[in-house]
Amino acid sequence: APIIVWFRTDLRLADNPALTAAAQASADTGAAVIPLYILEEETGGTAGTSPAGTSTWPLGGAQRWWLHGSLERLGTCCARHGSPLLLRRGEPGAVLDALIAETGAGCVLWNRRYTPAGTARDAAIKQGLKARGIDARSFNAALLAEPWTVRNKSGGSFKVFTPFWRHVSSTLNPPLPTRAPATLKAPQTAPAGDRLADWGLLPTRPDWAAGLRRRWVPGETAALSHLAEFLDGPVGAYATERDRPDRAGTSALSPYLAFGEIGPRQIWHAARHAADARPELAAGIEAFLREVGWREFQYHLLHHAPDLPDRPLDSRFTGFAWRDDPAGLRAWQRGRTGYPIVDAGMRQLWETGWMHNRVRMIVASFLIKDLLLPWQEGERWFWDTLVDADLAQNAGNWQWVAGCGADAAPFFRVFNPVLQGEKFDPAGDYVRRYVPELGRLPARWIHQPWAAPAEVLRQAGVRLGDSYPRPILDHGAARERALALYKELKEGV
Ligand code: FAD
Repeated sequence: APIIVWFRTDLRLADNPALTAAAQASADTGAAVIPLYILEEETGGTAGTSPAGTSTWPLGGAQRWWLHGSLERLGTCCARHGSPLLLRRGEPGAVLDALIAETGAGCVLWNRRYTPAGTARDAAIKQGLKARGIDARSFNAALLAEPWTVRNKSGGSFKVFTPFWRHVSSTLNPPLPTRAPATLKAPQTAPAGDRLADWGLLPTRPDWAAGLRRRWVPGETAALSHLAEFLDGPVGAYATERDRPDRAGTSALSPYLAFGEIGPRQIWHAARHAADARPELAAGIEAFLREVGWREFQYHLLHHAPDLPDRPLDSRFTGFAWRDDPAGLRAWQRGRTGYPIVDAGMRQLWETGWMHNRVRMIVASFLIKDLLLPWQEGERWFWDTLVDADLAQNAGNWQWVAGCGADAAPFFRVFNPVLQGEKFDPAGDYVRRYVPELGRLPARWIHQPWAAPAEVLRQAGVRLGDSYPRPILDHGAARERALALYKELKEGV
C-alpha cells in the first residue's frame, strides 16, 4: 500500500524525517511514495490560525508568492527523484481521506507544525486516521527541541530568553540531518492533482512582486547555498555587522526557515562544523546561533501561550489607550512618515518582502510608541508583506517591542529614529537605496532632512512637504505622550 508524505512547512527533501521514514519503508516493503501538498487556505491557511475565539491568519500576499515558487521547485525535485508532487486543495482531513480511498494508501507521514490551530487540526486528523487503521505518524523537522521537552528547574516553561538558550544550547544534541532520499518510488497510476498555476498564488494586477522576484529565489537549493556562503566568511563579522542595515551582514535565511526549505538542525550542524574548522569564525557563529535560538524561543512561547498573536502576554496592556489614526497608519505602511530610516524600512519591506532586523525594531517602535497605534496593526501589515512571515516570530517580536511580551524591551525604551539612523546607517546608504528622493542629501542631514539648511535642501533637490514628507509628528513630543500613558498603565490608573 502506498505511503503518503504530507508536506506543509517543510518544503525540502534533505533533513526531512517524514520523507526519510517513507523512503526507508518503501525500500523495505516496495511501497510507492506519494508526496502531497494541500492548499488549506479556505480553512484558515497553512501557516496556522489561532484557537477558537481569536482571529485567523490566512496566508499573506508575500507568502503566497513565495509558496508558489517553493512548490514549483519542490515539484521539480520530487519528480527528479522519481515520484511527482501531488497538489490538492481543501480541508486536509477530507483531502487525505479521498486520496486514501483512491490509492489504497496505508500510511500517512508528516512533519509537525507548531502553530496552535495547526497542532489542533493535525491531532484530530491523526486520531481519525488511526481509528481507521491507517498508520499515521509525525516527526520534528522545524525545531531544535520540542517545546514540551524543555523545562526549567521548577518544571515550568522558560519565560526569559537567556536562561532558555543557556539550557537548550548546552543540553542539545540534535540528530544529524539526513540527505535527500536517492529515489522515490512512484505509484503505478499517478493520482490526478491540481495545476499550481490554477491556485492563483501569484499577484496578477497590479503585479507588485517584481521586487520580490529580483531579490529572492525560493527553494531548498537556494537555501543551502545561502547558508554555505554565509558560513564561508560573512558570519565571522556577524556580531557587529548584524545591526547594520546598510550592509548585507545577516544570513537572509528567514523566509527559507519560514517555509521549511531549510531546517534549524541543518543550520546548527553546519555552523558547528564551520566553527570547528575555522576558530576565527567561532564568535560570529555563536552570535548567529543565538538568533536561531530566538526563533526557537518564540515557538516555545507560542506553544505555551497560543493566543500570543492576538493578545498581550502582559495582561496590563489589554486596556491600553491606543489611538485610532488611519492616516498615520497609512503613512507608516507606505513609508511616508517623514522619518527617513522608518520610511526606508517600510519601503524595503514593500519592495523586497523583507526588512532588516534593526529597522524592524525601529519601525515597530515608531508605530507603537510614536503613533500609539496597537501593535496588532503592525503585526497584520508585516504578516501580509513579509516573505518570512511566521506566526510565532512575528507575534513574539511585536510583543517584544511593545513591551507586553515575554522577556520584552521595557515600554519606556522608545527608539529615537534619528539617533538610530545615525548610529546604524552612518553614511545614509540604506536610506538612499530605498528613499531615492533624499539620495543627494549629505550624510549629516539624511536622517533629519527637516533640520537641514534651506540651501542644502535646494542643492539636493529636496522639497519638504512636496518631494518628501515633513515629519508627521514630533518625536520628542510623541515620546513624552507615550511615557505618560505608560506611567498610567504602571500605576494602574
Ligand atoms: P539572521 O540575523 O541571519 O538570523 C538568523 C535566523 O535567526 C533568522 O533567519 C531567524 O530565523 C532567526 N532570528 C534572527 N533574529 C530574530 C529575532 N529577533 N527573533 C526571532 N528569530 C530571529 N522573523 C521572522 O522569521 N518572521 C517574522 O514574521 C518576523 N517578524 C518580526 C517582527 C518584528 C517587529 C521584529 C522586530 C522582528 C521580526 N522577525 C521576524 C525577526 C527578525 O527580524 C528576522 O528573523 C530577521 O531579520 C531575518 O533576517 P536574517 O535571516 O538575515 O537573520
